[in-house]
Amino acid sequence: MGDGALSVWEKSSTARVVPSARPRKLAKVPFVELADGRLQGVVSSGSDIGRVYVSSVAAGTYAFACSTNNNRPCGGARGMFCNHIRAMIGEAVLQYGAERVARYLRVEADAAEADAHSVTSAMTAARPAQGDSSAAAQVFSRFLRHLAYLELAPTTGPLPEMQWFPTTGAVAA
Ligand SMILES: [Zn+2]
Repeated sequence: MGDGALSVWEKSSTARVVPSARPRKLAKVPFVELADGRLQGVVSSGSDIGRVYVSSVAAGTYAFACSTNNNRPCGGARGMFCNHIRAMIGEAVLQYGAERVARYLRVEADAAEADAHSVTSAMTAARPAQGDSSAAAQVFSRFLRHLAYLELAPTTGPLPEMQWFPTTGAVAA
């Protein structure tokens, strides 16, 4: 990637600002991130606008978890990826690109053909185990913090506090 298009602050800021690979449907999956060794996010309930699910898939093992923000287990995530997890993977691919998602989760997918479907298929083919949802509360609180930034007036300057979000590496849970 050439840096000819980068503005001065983009070059000088220590925070890497990564634009979405493609526009995302915020209403369906309002929050998704690659952090703490997981792909994790918040997914709206299809039927109840007042309910959201916190979904996650662990890098390497693909151990998955899905529960409501009130920590009730998701009925669809018994033994397999539920629709929330699938939607989250799809949105992560839009946000980060399939290649980066696959690399983070350590999915062996052909980079030339990787897309949400192939990444998801590669993980489900490995028959991942259901993980625990102990991180759900933490993910949800990060989502709420993220929401607070959406309410800020648009600005072209960097937000120093956004550097709180880890940009690289995984923190052992
Ligand atoms: Zn679910």
